[in-house]
Amino acid sequence: MSDTRYLDWPFFEPCHVTLARELDEWATQHASGSHGSDVDAQCIALVRALGQGGWLRHAVGGVAYGAASDTIDARAICLIRETLARHSGLADFAFAMQGLGSGAITLDGSLDQKQRYLPRVANGEAISAFALSEPDAGSDVAAMASAAHIDGDHAVLNGEKTWISNGGIADFYVVFARSGEAPGARGISAFIVDANTPGFEIAERIEVIAPHPLARLTFTDCRIPLAQRIGAAGEGFKVAMRTLDVFRTSVAAASLGFARRAMDEGLHRATTRKMFKGVLGDFQLTQAKLATMATTIDSAALLTYRAAWMRDQGHNVTREAAMAKMAATEGAQQVIDAAVQLWGGLGVVSGQPVEVLYREIRALRIYEGATEVQQLIIGRDLLREAAG
Ligand SMILES: Cc1cc2nc3c(=O)[nH]c(=O)nc-3n(C[C@H](O)[C@H](O)[C@H](O)COP(=O)(O)OP(=O)(O)OC[C@H]3O[C@@H](n4cnc5c(N)ncnc54)[C@H](O)[C@@H]3O)c2cc1C
Repeated sequence: MSDTRYLDWPFFEPCHVTLARELDEWATQHASGSHGSDVDAQCIALVRALGQGGWLRHAVGGVAYGAASDTIDARAICLIRETLARHSGLADFAFAMQGLGSGAITLDGSLDQKQRYLPRVANGEAISAFALSEPDAGSDVAAMASAAHIDGDHAVLNGEKTWISNGGIADFYVVFARSGEAPGARGISAFIVDANTPGFEIAERIEVIAPHPLARLTFTDCRIPLAQRIGAAGEGFKVAMRTLDVFRTSVAAASLGFARRAMDEGLHRATTRKMFKGVLGDFQLTQAKLATMATTIDSAALLTYRAAWMRDQGHNVTREAAMAKMAATEGAQQVIDAAVQLWGGLGVVSGQPVEVLYREIRALRIYEGATEVQQLIIGRDLLREAAG
């Protein structure tokens, strides 16, 4: 385990410290190593292993449904994502998607939905996905075009979703579609769509710089029982935002894990690379680089665990979560870039840890609200407060 002094910060309870330490040991045995070529198989294996290890119990809420606690513990999911990301981007992804994909059910699902889906998500038997984005509705979620028309006790779903993580391996998808109660964001509903539903198809697999299961989905006259709708008709946008609100801080935590790993790799190189009759770390320019990296990491960690702690105390954390996500993802990109620089030519060799991190971090500045979207959230919140 790398520098763990932050676990002494007052944000954490003893149970959090134990969780982080035990997971680090588990991840060293089960989640380290390269992604390999069959990303689907590895991701499925990681979900099963995380389930068997008991870690996925933290990704859902409701002890009655196999969860570790009745509400999702923000500090726990942040520590888990940070720790897993330090070992393996794919392991972090596998954990995060179980939470994001089932988050709407934890937060707004019916008793029956919770009973049918959450225990299987918590033990790693069922893989979940969150299908919000569309080709013409990414940052502008309310522009979505997928539609759900009511026909008796079913909704008939037509449309397309893209950039869907776990697309192709998920057992069920939480899908958001326009249900027509009102224009814009007030006319969207959320549905659970099982992967074997007739009319549902994986239209295209998408290859990205850090390989993860990712796909474009199509829905053609998919008949979804209304019992599969999450929350009330027209409330889907709120359901989506509530889900993202829980998990946004954990994206910051994952970035932190990538950055800490880059710091470890940078320090290793600085202390071992011989040059000019000394080692790289002897030079003040290197010391300045390391100092900036460490300070960026601590700033991001403070913002991340402040937001997680506040959420666990029941505070609204819209501004704090946006600050954490923006600072941690942007900061991690800089830290990782500095680590690549410290590694010189080796830093850009395919498969080297810092090269892998360089590719892993990039998408986190874009998904679950790009940095510009976080800036808007923070700016508007400040102006609202100033206006009284
Ligand atoms: C690896 C990966 C995994 C993903 N997984 C999922 C998933 O599981 N489920 C899902 O639903 N979606 C997922 N997404 C989609 C992701 O949420 C969207 O990519 C994101 O919301 C941005 O949408 P977009 O790609 O359409 O970019 P656009 O909305 O076209 O935005 C392009 C850029 O414009 C800038 N921008 C945005 N808004 C503003 C503004 N108001 N002012 C100025 N600039 C702005 C930002 O820099 C942004 O990157 C994933 C994406 C990636 C890359």
